[in-house]
Amino acid sequence: RPQFNYQKVILFPGDGIGPEISKAVIDIFDAAKVPIEWEFHEIHKKRVTDQGDLITEETLKQVKALKYALKGPFETPIGKGYRSINVTLRKRLQLFANVRPCKSIKGVMTPYPGVDVVTIRENTEGEYSGLEHEVVPGVVENLKIVSYNACQNIAQYAFEYARANNRKQVVACHKAGVMKQGDGLFLKVCDDVAKNYPEIEFSEEQIDTMAFKLANDPTKIDVMVMPNLYGDIVSDLCAGLIGGLGLTASGNIGKDCEVYEAVHGTAPDIAGKNLANPTALLLSGIMMLKAMRLNDYANRIENATYSVLEEGKFLTGDLGGKSTTSDYTKAIIDKL
Ligand code: NAD
Repeated sequence: RPQFNYQKVILFPGDGIGPEISKAVIDIFDAAKVPIEWEFHEIHKKRVTDQGDLITEETLKQVKALKYALKGPFETPIGKGYRSINVTLRKRLQLFANVRPCKSIKGVMTPYPGVDVVTIRENTEGEYSGLEHEVVPGVVENLKIVSYNACQNIAQYAFEYARANNRKQVVACHKAGVMKQGDGLFLKVCDDVAKNYPEIEFSEEQIDTMAFKLANDPTKIDVMVMPNLYGDIVSDLCAGLIGGLGLTASGNIGKDCEVYEAVHGTAPDIAGKNLANPTALLLSGIMMLKAMRLNDYANRIENATYSVLEEGKFLTGDLGGKSTTSDYTKAIIDKL
């Protein structure tokens, strides 16, 4: 098809079910005539840089140049001498925010209908700074880093996200009652940044109280912003609230570029069998289109996807149906 005026976007199809679910996304975007052109890139099984990265310098440069990338799941190779691809992408591309919207899908049975929460997680420091060492035998010190700049970046991103997506509330989740300086700094910065967004209601909550509230009635919660470790745990908890990792999209946001991905793995047990559910990667692609301000295309594909799921005639095995990946994909295309 003519590529004139089409914006180039990177696609990492991934391993295992990655190529099948990527094909589903490509076919659906094609059917919706989304004005993007995919540029395919690889993530390797062995180190390709001196630092032990599984991705080449050229590809990293290209992600920055094109700004948007969609990533399928990758098998984590076992052994030493390389760096995890997620760590490489996060560090080299400075992807400081991880965003996970979790919205109940009609037709997918869960304990709570009407969930619509977004977890915004600081992605670069906190307990995951990688600074740990054995002080004396039997005693390990693991440093939790909290910097003003990282707190400001994540707080500002959370409020900008809320404003752009018409969300009403942001709650900062922390444990400042115990970690008075570290989480205290995070909380203070969130509080300061909130003053620039008077139209958005700001509140704060200790992370353990938030865990209780999420289990008790998640429908009352809107956008949550939090440090790295809490965000890692809470974002998976929220995926569970809406029916699992197979339905959960995510975005990793930096100042120069954004990498969107499904949160599940390569599903080696069903790979190559046309059984995988492509919804999580598709919803991640839809998030990417919204970030690219292609909202009309994003909304059309999102509505078609939700109505196929709600009708329940073409569901994949993980959702209790008998359809193949291609049947489900075709059903969405027919809806479009
Ligand atoms: P997994 O998510 O691949 O699979 C867990 C279970 O969920 C399996 O039964 C699988 O069949 C099912 N499942 C997952 N996604 C599905 C989908 N889209 N449709 C239908 N069923 C689906 O987790 P795992 O088995 O722990 O990991 C397998 C591999 O994936 C490992 O090499 C791991 O390192 C890698 N992994 C990669 C990423 C990533 O690239 N972001 C994330 C997690 C795991």
